[in-house]
Amino acid sequence: MLHYLFTYPETIVDGDGIRFSIYLAGCGHHCKGCHNPESWNPRAGHPLTPEKVEEFITAINGNPLLDGITFSGGDPFYNPKDFFPLIKEISGRTRQNIWCYTGYTYEELAADPERKQILPYINVLVDGRFEQNLYSPQLTFRGSSNQRIIKLR
Ligand code: SF4
Repeated sequence: MLHYLFTYPETIVDGDGIRFSIYLAGCGHHCKGCHNPESWNPRAGHPLTPEKVEEFITAINGNPLLDGITFSGGDPFYNPKDFFPLIKEISGRTRQNIWCYTGYTYEELAADPERKQILPYINVLVDGRFEQNLYSPQLTFRGSSNQRIIKLR
């Protein structure tokens, strides 16, 4: 079962507008200078039970101020087998615009059949590992300049 680290019911730093952010546990990239190494463990945080998912969907659908949902982590693509049904359900039942952060590049995701099937549910992908030598505090919505904000649909 997926684990989540925490959620932000209303944040303005994880993409355009006001967003409900869900931080999923698990990341295999181990970038030097990672802001949150505790997030690498897929068992960190709390189990994302069906009841929790229901709770998130109710909160999202009950907030008319939201502009969208953001998945971050960790790396949401760490466990594509479980992330696929989650994003499919949340997307289908909320009809929200979805941003997703990942340490993979778009090209890596597109070359992996299991991860590629998730891409159609994402409006905006922020891709790539965190590169400490390319870090800049001036960048909006990303940590290092190699990362790209890619509009997928
Ligand atoms: S992809 Fe993100 S969470 Fe994973 S190690 Fe790199 S900076 Fe940390």
